[in-house]
Amino acid sequence: MDRLIIIVPCFNEEEVLPNSTKQLVDVINNLKEKGKIAPNSGILLVNDGSRDKTWELIKKENKKYNCVYGLNLAANVGHQNALFAGIDCTKDICDFSISIDADLQDDILAIEKMVDKYNSGTDIVYGVRSDRKSDSFFKRTTAQGFYKFMSAMGVKTIYNHADFRLMSSRAMKQLCCYKERNLFLRGIVPEIGYKTDTVEYSRKPRTAGKSKYPFKKMLNFAWQGITSFSIKPISVISFLGASIIFFSIIAFIYTLISYFLKHTQPGWSSLMISIWFLGGVQLFAIGMIGQYVGKIYIESKERPRYNIEELLMDDKDKDKDKDKK
Ligand code: UDP
Ligand code: MG
Repeated sequence: MDRLIIIVPCFNEEEVLPNSTKQLVDVINNLKEKGKIAPNSGILLVNDGSRDKTWELIKKENKKYNCVYGLNLAANVGHQNALFAGIDCTKDICDFSISIDADLQDDILAIEKMVDKYNSGTDIVYGVRSDRKSDSFFKRTTAQGFYKFMSAMGVKTIYNHADFRLMSSRAMKQLCCYKERNLFLRGIVPEIGYKTDTVEYSRKPRTAGKSKYPFKKMLNFAWQGITSFSIKPISVISFLGASIIFFSIIAFIYTLISYFLKHTQPGWSSLMISIWFLGGVQLFAIGMIGQYVGKIYIESKERPRYNIEELLMDDKDKDKDKDKK
């Protein structure tokens, strides 16, 4: 039997944490009883620099349940990096992991189905939302537009899959070989390869607390995803530039012909418009290229993706983790 660790990133989740932990502990116990996972399986709660009592609660849960571990990050690094920290710290001590959000909007009943697929030899199992009835109209349309836009930009993502997924330890180790700082796990994981499968579930509404992904953050996330995985925007700009040059040559020929035929052009407004238009296009293009240069700048610094303040785990596990590093 293989050891499972459920990884839960938590940022200001004091309202949902006690209930979510209890539900996940029940899932773990149930799977242990059924003999589907090893007896030393557990849950790692990753505190992503919360400003509320999340870490105090995690320490409490760690004392209360043997199978609950805690990882306290020194500062808020964002959902993707917090999740990555959890994967990095457990890749050597478990056989497979499942990541899930602290609010348990993703159906915990899907966990058993994922484990079954793992036990029959699958390395990566994606949780895929079969419907989004629980999301607001706005969230639903923007999220679905996001997946479609990503695929139009040539980024391989799994449609309607967020970060609820099972990964075997070899897939986790492979993931840790991707050194980029601008993490977009939904784009990286499909690139790993190995045998993959999906499990469908319907997403529930958040029971308490607020969403940590307001519209501005969602836009930023989509932007990160596109610029980290695709250079299509640069090709689009090159194409745009070439088309504009082509049209300006035609306009020049037209003006010349008009001049020889003595049809003078009343030129001021068309001249101004074209100057503004081209100025805009150029600024946009420079900005776009700047985005990629900015990324090179960030990546070239190779700063750590997260810093650990404290790790609450069995000492045995901690030693093993250190040895393998
Ligand atoms: N989260 C995090 N760090 C952050 C923001 C969010 O670890 O800076 C966690 C949060 O605690 C939750 C998960 O990421 O477990 C997803 O956040 P949320 O449920 O608010 O997003 P939504 O479901 O609204 O997209
Ligand atoms: Mg949520």
